[in-house]
Amino acid sequence: MELHNLTASELIEKLSLKQITPDEILFSLDKQIKRLESKIKAYVRLDGNKISTLPTISHLEGTSLKGIPVSVKDNICTDGYLTECCSKILSGFKPPYDATVIKKLKEAGARILEPKTNMDEFAFGSSTENSCFGPTYNPWDLGRVVGGSSGGSAAAVAADEAILALGSDTGGSIRQPASFCGVVGLKPTYGRVSRYGLIAFASSLDQIGPITKDVKDCALLMNTISGYDPCDSTSVDIEVPDFTKALIPDVKGIKIGIPNEYFVEGLDPQVKNVIEEAINKLKDLGAMCEQVSLPHTEYAVAVYYIIATAEASSNLARFDGVQYGYRSKSKISKKIESSSLIEMYKQTRAEGFGSEAKRRIILGTFVLSHGYYEAYYLRALKVRTLIKNDFDNVFRECDCIITPTSPTTAFKIGERIDDPLKMYLSDIYTISANLAGIPAISIPCGFDKYGLPVGLQILAKPFDEEMLFRVAYAYEQSTPWHKMKPKIIFEQ
Ligand code: GLN
Repeated sequence: MELHNLTASELIEKLSLKQITPDEILFSLDKQIKRLESKIKAYVRLDGNKISTLPTISHLEGTSLKGIPVSVKDNICTDGYLTECCSKILSGFKPPYDATVIKKLKEAGARILEPKTNMDEFAFGSSTENSCFGPTYNPWDLGRVVGGSSGGSAAAVAADEAILALGSDTGGSIRQPASFCGVVGLKPTYGRVSRYGLIAFASSLDQIGPITKDVKDCALLMNTISGYDPCDSTSVDIEVPDFTKALIPDVKGIKIGIPNEYFVEGLDPQVKNVIEEAINKLKDLGAMCEQVSLPHTEYAVAVYYIIATAEASSNLARFDGVQYGYRSKSKISKKIESSSLIEMYKQTRAEGFGSEAKRRIILGTFVLSHGYYEAYYLRALKVRTLIKNDFDNVFRECDCIITPTSPTTAFKIGERIDDPLKMYLSDIYTISANLAGIPAISIPCGFDKYGLPVGLQILAKPFDEEMLFRVAYAYEQSTPWHKMKPKIIFEQ
């Protein structure tokens, strides 16, 4: 085993025993990245250079992530270092401040890698094919997608090219790539982790969260990034428990709800089998499983694509060639006439945004427009409340809910890129957690016949991440999946 093959908790132990140094970890990671990046392309702006880290501002003695490298998605701001959301329109953008999660990580002594991880442009997508830098390739099968939009982070963790990684999740962008890459991904409760410095996609749905090799690392990273932040008015002032204390391998008496609406047509039969085996495993461990109903599930995708695009169209209005990143060099802007500023905006946005971003801006503007606002946007908000009520009802009886993370395993590169509706359906099982604001985790639970990983999703009440950790840890500790790694890691 080399250092890059280890988990953060294993490295922390070795560091505390002074068996290794932080620079040795970085050296080992650098070697692995050099070996695999030409095939996987998990990072952007790597340029074949040695990986560098951002300056760590300060760290207290004994802080938990001291010396541990953390890889960061390209939509999380790092002071003075490129953060481009994998979009041409943000090319050259260096934020003048750190996101709160970055500040907290630096204070905990973590080493933030300067190259960021690849993503769908502005987090719009489910495959990481919508990146202006091109796709990331799945370490389990290079012909397949990594999921998205945090695909670079998930692939980096799966290929041992990252120790810990951060992603963001608006409708499944942490959990679905974690599932496709066979790693752990958590979307925290809305308000648990500060969004300050996360470049906004849909502000009422976005959350930053961990992508890690195992459940313990996920708890460690959550301990560092969680907590109230006055810079984010939607962050909630609630105590942050030590999540590692919830890592108890015992689910006896825990009540798990299995929603009927998630086991219907469209669910790949192999994924279904693997999930059913996982449920049986949890029963063997003493959990009590019962069928439940989330009756408004069928509206989740439609509601999401109204609310998320409405918010995105408004959030993206600021990219006009004046304040951030790219500006069109088109001659039009030189004309001295009243329309020239407007022309510059138009030209910049036409050249700077990719086609999925444009599709969402158009859709979002439409649903917010006079005459349609009530028919679409307002109605979607009402159905969102019904979806939230469904969860409240189930959580009166159950401690958590279990579902597949995604209806399929990783699909082939190019397979869905020209069919947005099919792509949108990749998130059918993950979107509801964002609409309801509840926490959800995806953990590896087996493989299909092509050797592709399957993810198990666990959902809990708002701010009950401890329940997720407990169930996930108990399952993980009694199964071998989290220890399995793609062959490419060991090939010469
Ligand atoms: N795939 C979903 C979308 O394209 C979710 C993306 C996300 O969570 N950022 O909107």
